[in-house]
Amino acid sequence: MKKEAAALTQLSPSEVTQLCETSGTHGLTLSTVKMRQHKYGANALVEAKKPNLIMQILHHLSDITSLILLFAVALSIYLALTTASDWTKASVIGGIVILNVGIALFQEHSAERALSALKSMTEQTVTVIRSGKKQITPASNLVPGDLLSLKAGDVVPADSRLIKAVSLSADEAILTGESLSVVKTAAAMPHIPESLGDSQNMLFSGTALTQGSCTAIVTAIGMKTELGKIATLLNTTEKQQTPLSRRLNSLTKRLSLVAILGGVTTILISTLFHHETFTESLMVGVSLAIAAVPETLPVIVTLSMAYGIQKMAKKKAIIRQVTAVETIGNVNVIASDKTGTLTQNKMTITKYWPGTGEPRVVSNLTKEQLPVQDTRFLTYLGLATNAELTAKGLADIGDPTELAIVSLLAHFGMTRSKSEKKYPRIAENPFDSDKKTMTTWHRTPSGKWIAIIKGAIDRLPFATNVDHTELDYFHDQFAAEALRVLAAGFQVFETEPLKKDDTALTNLQPLGLIGIIDPPRPEVIPAITAAKKGGITTVMITGDHLETAKAIAHEIGILQPGQVALTGKQLNDMSASELAAKIDTIRVYARTTPSDKIRIVKAWQQKGAIVAMTGDGVNDAPALKAANVGIAMGVTGTEVSKNAADMILADDNFATIIAAVKQGRTVYENILKAVEFLISVNFAQIFTMIIAITLGWGAPMTPEQLLIVNVLADGIPGFFLSREVAEPGIMRQPPLTRAASIWARGLGKRVVVRTITYMIIILGIYALGRFGLNNDTPGVGMTMLFLVLALGSMLDIYPIKTRQALSKHAYLNNPALNSSLVLTFLSIIVIVLFEPLAKIFQLSSLNLLEWLIVIFVLFIPTIVIEAAKKIEKQTRTR
Ligand code: ATP
Repeated sequence: MKKEAAALTQLSPSEVTQLCETSGTHGLTLSTVKMRQHKYGANALVEAKKPNLIMQILHHLSDITSLILLFAVALSIYLALTTASDWTKASVIGGIVILNVGIALFQEHSAERALSALKSMTEQTVTVIRSGKKQITPASNLVPGDLLSLKAGDVVPADSRLIKAVSLSADEAILTGESLSVVKTAAAMPHIPESLGDSQNMLFSGTALTQGSCTAIVTAIGMKTELGKIATLLNTTEKQQTPLSRRLNSLTKRLSLVAILGGVTTILISTLFHHETFTESLMVGVSLAIAAVPETLPVIVTLSMAYGIQKMAKKKAIIRQVTAVETIGNVNVIASDKTGTLTQNKMTITKYWPGTGEPRVVSNLTKEQLPVQDTRFLTYLGLATNAELTAKGLADIGDPTELAIVSLLAHFGMTRSKSEKKYPRIAENPFDSDKKTMTTWHRTPSGKWIAIIKGAIDRLPFATNVDHTELDYFHDQFAAEALRVLAAGFQVFETEPLKKDDTALTNLQPLGLIGIIDPPRPEVIPAITAAKKGGITTVMITGDHLETAKAIAHEIGILQPGQVALTGKQLNDMSASELAAKIDTIRVYARTTPSDKIRIVKAWQQKGAIVAMTGDGVNDAPALKAANVGIAMGVTGTEVSKNAADMILADDNFATIIAAVKQGRTVYENILKAVEFLISVNFAQIFTMIIAITLGWGAPMTPEQLLIVNVLADGIPGFFLSREVAEPGIMRQPPLTRAASIWARGLGKRVVVRTITYMIIILGIYALGRFGLNNDTPGVGMTMLFLVLALGSMLDIYPIKTRQALSKHAYLNNPALNSSLVLTFLSIIVIVLFEPLAKIFQLSSLNLLEWLIVIFVLFIPTIVIEAAKKIEKQTRTR
């Protein structure tokens, strides 16, 4: 630990404020902040430098695809130097290598740009007091001396010294490895602490506040913080791979291996059986290798992921882990919080019961009609809250449950602050979702002490002699109406209680109840139906009471007859095997604590499910990490939960999860479409080459022609498959299982059909052009084959891009694809018709009949694919 930081622990809060030249109440002035930002720079950890352009190019050149191409270039150079052959081959293949690397660099750059734009959307913000006003600012703007206002769930944004702390504890595992939270206080320490973990009055950047609230002064930022000192440079360029991209990469590698083996075999065949010269057969072998390699596939995968992430962000689902793009499409269980995600979090008290008589309906009562005996209930209730209503038009401060309480007071012309003047607050035990209650402690006007507790009825420690039959009766009545119910109790003390926590509440008396309506989000009902159709089970996990949860779950379609709702306690009473047997039928978990969530996630996962889990609180982080897709709330979520999540909902809305599922599935489908589009042409090329060479025809395609087809005619339109919109049926099929192969769902069959179609037509047209229409003229055969392969595979991108029968819509709904096709189509025509280019690519001119045959054959693949779709549909419906 640094000496200065250690010395700070010895000072009193006021000495620290003086030393940091700031104010413990007003913070820094805005002008000082500006000056200090200039002097100290941003509060950020330095990131490792990105590899420079040359390194990036070398990286691309070192993959197996490029190595094969480079070998071809080297071979062509050798041929140019040693034989009569000219330099065109070397320059064309070299040009294609450059084009391919160029495309890869460009696509990667745009993918990275898209991702870093997302990063700024998830940037940490923090509440800071400057010039006496609270404001929310990006954590990167903090300067030494800034006065922070932090609470449970916040991640500490910079090293700071506490000025005031209320029931504060922090999880410092990231720095100290200690998994238990440590208690923090603002007082000066008598001794210099030995380690970070002992520095009770300091907060360290990157650690998490697990309880309480505080104000603290920033003492070090960025790389000067303790975290900055141990953080090895953050390597932001580290790329994560999704299971699909891993599988595709290994497919590309395997194909490259096939390419090399195929190349060697053809070299042997042509030298041994057809007595070609070694250099000629070497060139044929290289052609085959080039034919087999799907040059553009890896880039298309990266691009599809990046595009998917951007689309999800537009729909308010912000991806933090790239792998989540794919996983979210495959989830089959979504375990969602209720409050704020399924419901609107706009809480209004519609009924209350002040401890006697009948429950009151708020809309039936005005200030003037308020029964006198209700005033005490409302006053006490107000005392036990922290929320504040602000002037109209400004954001109110506080949690929605508490805002509902102060709004109720306002309805009757009462305010919390007036009551607090009469009953000054002396202590608070803040609410947390484990204990589900909150207690405040006050002096009374008559010089006594009073504790007021509010929260979940089953968590209020009423005195044993209290009869709460009526309280329970009205509670259940409220809950059955889908109201969120809070009970309240109080205890008066003649002398000041020594310990101001729930253990002092030995004679707690009931005060009354409030019933809060929190309407479901209207878009949630159709989203749950959509999830069901897509094979996804939605499960509600809530801290609320069982009856309330059941009523709402029923209303929004989560709970149906025959399905089960249970409490966290009932869950805890179940053994692992009981839970495993029942989990399929449980749809609602009520009165849960955050630790229950992990058990639910794990139980589903053991059944092979892929689980998405939402969470917002500080204690939800472990469950978010355990889930396959952890989802945090952008609006109400704590920084801690956001840090643990794979995805953040910018609008806290359940419906957004379903939109992300749909987008995730679309990304996956689009990648598979690109695989189908590219790989089948590669396969057809390999087999055609091998057959032609075995027949003694020599290579029917030159390396240059193959590369034009693979990189230009197929590669460029292939990129735009990543922009395909979702297929209409995408949310009507069940999610893929974790073990599903990429060839599942008919991809294998489709690739076989297209490969065979191309093999037959290109071999056929080659033979026709070379032998049928002419007297052994390889040039014509080659040209006809080239045209059919290049243009035919551009035309049949349309039947591939839609799984439905081909329609006008399919031809018009992807303008970027259409533009790329027009461009590549024109390029191919220019290559064939413009003589100097045709010569370079060894293409001959065709007569009218040959052109007409080519044009006719171009449509065959489209017709075959459409016919295959029809047959598949018929066999499926049979
Ligand atoms: P979800 O997990 O669906 O978001 P939730 O937000 O309703 O559920 P909690 O916030 O843990 O879950 O609330 C659970 C219970 O705690 C509520 O039913 C209520 O009785 C009580 N409660 C909620 N907010 C407060 C509060 N500010 N003060 C006291 N008690 C509260």
